[in-house]
Formats: sequence, C-alpha cells, structure tokens
Amino acid sequence: MSNILRIENLSTHFETARGTVKAVDGVDLQLNEGDTLGIAGESGCGKTVLALTVMRLIPRPPGRIVSGRILFEGQDLLGLSEEEMRRVRGKRISMIFQEPMTSLNPVFRVGDQVAETLRLHEGLSAAEAHGRAVEMLRMVGIPAPEARARDYPHQMSGGMRQRVMIAMALSCRPRLMLADEPTTALDVTIQAQILELIQELKREVGTSVILITHDLGVIAEAAQYAAVMYAGWVVEQGPVDAIFSAPLHPYTVGLMNSIPRIGKGHAQDGYLNVIPGTIPDLLELPSGCKFRDRCPRAMPVCAERKPELIAKAPGHSVRCWLHG
Ligand code: SF4
Repeated sequence: MSNILRIENLSTHFETARGTVKAVDGVDLQLNEGDTLGIAGESGCGKTVLALTVMRLIPRPPGRIVSGRILFEGQDLLGLSEEEMRRVRGKRISMIFQEPMTSLNPVFRVGDQVAETLRLHEGLSAAEAHGRAVEMLRMVGIPAPEARARDYPHQMSGGMRQRVMIAMALSCRPRLMLADEPTTALDVTIQAQILELIQELKREVGTSVILITHDLGVIAEAAQYAAVMYAGWVVEQGPVDAIFSAPLHPYTVGLMNSIPRIGKGHAQDGYLNVIPGTIPDLLELPSGCKFRDRCPRAMPVCAERKPELIAKAPGHSVRCWLHG
C-alpha cells in the first residue's frame, strides 16, 4: 500500500526568552492511504505542534521548522509557497480541532461557513455551495439540516458544533484529515458517536486520518497504526495490535498500565497505576534519553547516549536502549 504521508526527520523549534524549545525533535512517521494513524502522548509531548507543522501553521516567530521533509502524495509541503499551501489546506488536507468554538466564526451561520469552504476551494456558485453544505450537514447526522444551517454556532450543542467542523473538514473530500483531540471536550456518549462518524465518513470519502489524542482507548478503537510521542520524540510506533499486545517502550507500557480497568488491583480498589513525575521542562531535559528521569528501567547508558528509533518488527519501531 502506498504512503499518502511520509514525515522524515522533522524538527520544529520555538525561540523563548529562556532558550530554544525543541517541540518536535527529529520525527519520522508514515501513513498509508486509507488508514488511520493515532498519535498518543501526554499534554506538551509535541503532538499538536506536529499537526500544525504538517499544516504549515506554525507562527513564525517564535516557531521555526528547522529540518525535515513532509512528503504528501510525494510532494514536499515544506517546498511550497504560502499561496500553494493555502490551496492545499482545506481542499487536500483538512484539520479539526478539540474546541470547535475556536474554529467556527461566531457571527456567521454554520451553513454559510461550510458553503464558504466549498466556494473557495471548489469554485461553486452560492446556490450550489449552499445545497452541498446542507447535504454535508445531513451526512454528519445533523437533524433538519436545512433549518440548522441557519443556526449560529452558539445555538448548537458542543457535539453538534463538532459535527459541523467535521462537515466543513470533509466538504472538499480531502485526501488527509488531521483530527486534534476531536472528542476530548465532549460527553462520553457523544464521543463515541463522533468517533463512529469519523470512521464512517473515512470509509465513504476515502480520506486518510491522523487522530491525535491523549486517550489510548480512542486509538485502540479507531486506528490501524499508532505512534507514541514523548518530549518531541516518537518513542514507539507500529500496528495498533502489536503496540497494544506487546508494547516495547517503558513509556508506552506506563501509558497502558495507567488506563483505568475494573478488577483486582485496579481502579475499583481505589488503585491506579501512574507514571511517576511529569513530562519534563523541554528546556531542562535530562542527558541521553528524555524519559530517563521517569523510567523504571533506566540504565547507565541511558544517561550517556540518545537512543535512536530502531525497527524491531516490520513496521514496529522503538527508541530505547533496552531494545537497541
Ligand atoms: Fe528507559 Fe533507558 Fe529505555 Fe530511556 S532508553 S526508556 S531511560 S530504558
């Protein structure tokens, strides 16, 4: 199967008064056509910066893409002009965010906002764009879409607004959609509906998806491949089945163990496994392995040398001296 996206040695840094923050630090990733890649990790691990880097939406200054290639359908996005990139965004690659209120314009009706994307990228007339927008709202499960198209964002619930965002993101049938914590702000039942909707539309439209989340359960349910990020590194990546059945990196193992489960020794006994410590200050990283301060299996070599990402099985790689 061919890669729709291939990221090679990608680094994005931010200049701050205290020094350079390496938010994305030499990331290699790939996504096959039609698949979903789940990217997991704690807040501050670099997953959102990675998505914004792919979209070329890093504010400069203070941010800067310092190295790498982002090959989308074989074309390096980092070589495109801003004008060319504007044509890619929304049309060939789209993005949905955690909180739709930050992306939807509060003073325009939702139908008009979906229609605007279609007019801009597909060159449709106002009437055609409105008709397609209503169709998209129907497709994402908004009841009475003709009437709801006239609503302003504040007249809709969080789940409905997220559906509008998905309608907007998929209206031009993009080849790739990046979804950054698309269900985090929603109730559990609505979360399940939105995930199911993304899966359904992905099948229908043929879009490949990058799903960013701190919730491994979401990845297990919706993705074929997973990448785990820590402090700007991908520390493990591979097929979801392999990662969930036999995680290799101590951080991935820690994330798995911290999922609440009902049963002896778990949440019902008031007992929850946690990874000690917090994600490090990116300006004061330990030498060698960035996870060293929190790792229960750290060895002397971990302080001396940086581990590299190495393949342990087809498509399954890990960045850890235990496996090097
Ligand atoms: Fe732990 Fe060392 Fe592996 Fe880092 S390289 S995760 S410190 S064992």
